[in-house]
Amino acid sequence: MAKFAASEYRRLVIKVGSSLLINANGQLNRRWLDSLAEDIAELHADDKQLLVVSSGAIAIGSNVLDLNKRRARLEELQAAAAAGQVQLAHAYREALGARSITTAQILLTPEDTENRRRFLNARGTLGRLLDYKVVPIINENDTVATEEIRYGDNDRLAARVAQLVMADALLLLSDVDGFYTADPGKHADAQHIPEVRGITEEMLRMAGETRTDIGSGGMATKVQAARIATHAGCSTIVASGAIDRPLHALANGAACTIFRAEGSPAAARKQWLAGVLKVGGGLTIDAGAAQALQDGKSLLPVGVVDVTGNFHRGDVVTIKNDLSVELGRGLAEYDSEEARKLAGCQSENIEDRLGYRGRTVMVHRDDLVLFDTDG
Ligand code: GLU
Repeated sequence: MAKFAASEYRRLVIKVGSSLLINANGQLNRRWLDSLAEDIAELHADDKQLLVVSSGAIAIGSNVLDLNKRRARLEELQAAAAAGQVQLAHAYREALGARSITTAQILLTPEDTENRRRFLNARGTLGRLLDYKVVPIINENDTVATEEIRYGDNDRLAARVAQLVMADALLLLSDVDGFYTADPGKHADAQHIPEVRGITEEMLRMAGETRTDIGSGGMATKVQAARIATHAGCSTIVASGAIDRPLHALANGAACTIFRAEGSPAAARKQWLAGVLKVGGGLTIDAGAAQALQDGKSLLPVGVVDVTGNFHRGDVVTIKNDLSVELGRGLAEYDSEEARKLAGCQSENIEDRLGYRGRTVMVHRDDLVLFDTDG
């Protein structure tokens, strides 16, 4: 029997569905949120890095603005999201703040996770927040996300966040306790599946027939989210949150489905980098920097001796030594023009050279894949 043990993971994304947090009258279920905060505090004290992706802004806002959610137009729902988000973030701040945990609000659009330049920006901010032991409370930026350009459901948003921060676990809490062979509401013989290794088309089809939750997601969005996350090296757990202290219940053996990760987040990121076809340019580095990369460090501007081609921040660049041997490739943290200005620059002089503060690394070690070279 597969059991979810938080102790196996280092960085967890917890997705909270609207149906858990908001009752049928659009009121926030504060008692339940307090119980979740209790669970989060326990993991936080155990040095786990935690991010919460929470739905509920539209449901709360519809109540505040006295809007009929089902008949509302998109702009009305966006207005509701704006009014509701303030209250949602405030509720998390109170519940977690009461347990001495600092929260921060992050609102994302698909651009922020799909466009590599913005991906680096969002990841940089989230990484710093986790360093400060802050628990980010994340939602879609519904105010600017129109129909064609939205995640649409927070299961997918949560999977993208997990991929962005290289989380090793994604917990999808809703009102179902896992994945079944058929809709358990309609088929008495539907079987609960505790563990999945490799998501098949057949599973996606089965999930499509099962609706859950008063939020926008169903089992289909959960399995799709699991597919994104497991490919990024992140195990995905579909579990019921419809109980006080849901994470505690899971630790004590409550039913769930664990979709096992394929490899580690770092291996998945490197595989993706190795497979990117379009390379924007190149960085030639000195022997000291080459050694630092071998030792698992990031590439700093001081180690760069030459910059070739034109590229933008977030593009893939090749990394060569001074004998033109390709050592690997990585995501550039700077545009080529800035990279040229910074070649050979000590970290403390970056601001002088650029005229603004800048970042310390040229290529972050998480965004770097090294090839096997003979020496
Ligand atoms: N972003 C939406 C909200 O906060 C939720 C989307 C979803 O439930 O998946 O209301």
